[in-house]
Amino acid sequence: MDFALTPAQAAFRNDVRAFIQERLPQDIRKRMRAGHPARKQDVVLFQRILNERGWAAPHWPRKYGGAELGQVERLILVDELFRAPAPMPSIFNVVMLGPLLMKFGTPEQCDHFLPKLANLDLWFCQGFSEPGAGSDLAALRTSARREGDHYVVNGQKIWTSTAHYADWAFCLVRTGQAARKQDGISFLLVDLRLPGIRIRPIVSIDGAHSLNEVFFDEVKVPVEHLVGEEGRGWDCAKFLLGNERTGIANVGLCRERLDFARELARTLTQNGRPLIDDAGLRAELAVLDAEIRALEITNWRLLLAPETSLGGAAFASVLKLKGTEIQQEVVALVARLAGPAALERRASDSAGSEHWAAPLAPRYLQSRAASIYGGASEIQKDILAKAALG
Ligand SMILES: Cc1cc2nc3c(=O)[nH]c(=O)nc-3n(C[C@H](O)[C@H](O)[C@H](O)COP(=O)(O)OP(=O)(O)OC[C@H]3O[C@@H](n4cnc5c(N)ncnc54)[C@H](O)[C@@H]3O)c2cc1C
Repeated sequence: MDFALTPAQAAFRNDVRAFIQERLPQDIRKRMRAGHPARKQDVVLFQRILNERGWAAPHWPRKYGGAELGQVERLILVDELFRAPAPMPSIFNVVMLGPLLMKFGTPEQCDHFLPKLANLDLWFCQGFSEPGAGSDLAALRTSARREGDHYVVNGQKIWTSTAHYADWAFCLVRTGQAARKQDGISFLLVDLRLPGIRIRPIVSIDGAHSLNEVFFDEVKVPVEHLVGEEGRGWDCAKFLLGNERTGIANVGLCRERLDFARELARTLTQNGRPLIDDAGLRAELAVLDAEIRALEITNWRLLLAPETSLGGAAFASVLKLKGTEIQQEVVALVARLAGPAALERRASDSAGSEHWAAPLAPRYLQSRAASIYGGASEIQKDILAKAALG
């Protein structure tokens, strides 16, 4: 991304690179480079290392543990983390809940939760989706009725990533019935150790357990864990789903996987020749490289000039849509380069080490979900059509 960097920004990038080089444990980098997702312990460890510099929550005020970085520096940091590759700080804690508490929370909520969010002392997950309420989120039915100084919560959430090892969830619940389904929703912070909560795993097609169903049966949540006004939770949801622009395109991730694809193409051989000798493959790599470059420039345009003819929100949809498509293409290419080896599940040597290609098919399968979570691709296209055509 050198084309737009000022000397100060270039120095910042070098600083970030040196820091990651020095502090990211090699075994974590190696696992992630091979294609594995970061494990919980990796995320916690590295978020705390970043937090020493205020880089776990880089855009937050210093008083809550941030570094008050601007958008460009933040993007540089995110890109470098992806490219290392290193575990990302928890999006739920840092990108979603933290800024939301600063906007809608009480000073007590901010003082209590924000430092813990930055240091990952508390791991939050997101309890929004329900059976029958995904893209149409306002159709949610999990209820919370006020009884004295508590809300009593009943209902079910689904697709709740990391709930099985999270400490808390931030949830949308229905506290009232109104003509408009967006009204009567409230935003609650729920301690997942409370009695009446049951978490059931969902194992996805990649064989991993990151998703869950969460059931609430007469769960008593203290009133002080309501964020914002009762019945105005939709304002929180809109803020939370709409305020993220910086990392939405996942440029660094695409680039890291493309570098890995090149590496594979140079080392793997067919009929005694490296795969990279194939002109068709080189052209494919070049097209992806150009696509990622275009995505990167588009991302910069949004950050540097958010007032576009399309409008900031619609521009973000371009980034989400295109970023997802490229990410899926690159990850599919990596699995294709590995060939049948990508289906390998056995140990590769007598010591029981994993086959080098074992993570690649799961990674490919997992990448398919990117066009569903964070706003499905069809929804992004709806937004773009409305913005473009009125
Ligand atoms: C890996 C993964 C992790 C997730 N993590 C979380 C999490 O941590 N917390 C959480 O709350 N949720 C999470 N989700 C849920 C996610 O937000 C929903 O899956 C998403 O909002 C889509 O909702 P749905 O699954 O109910 O599908 P639906 O909304 O039922 O959509 C089904 C299909 O219909 C299409 N469709 C729906 N409405 C329209 C429309 N108006 N116009 C055109 N097409 C439409 C969709 O694009 C999709 O193709 C996760 C999902 C995945 C896959």
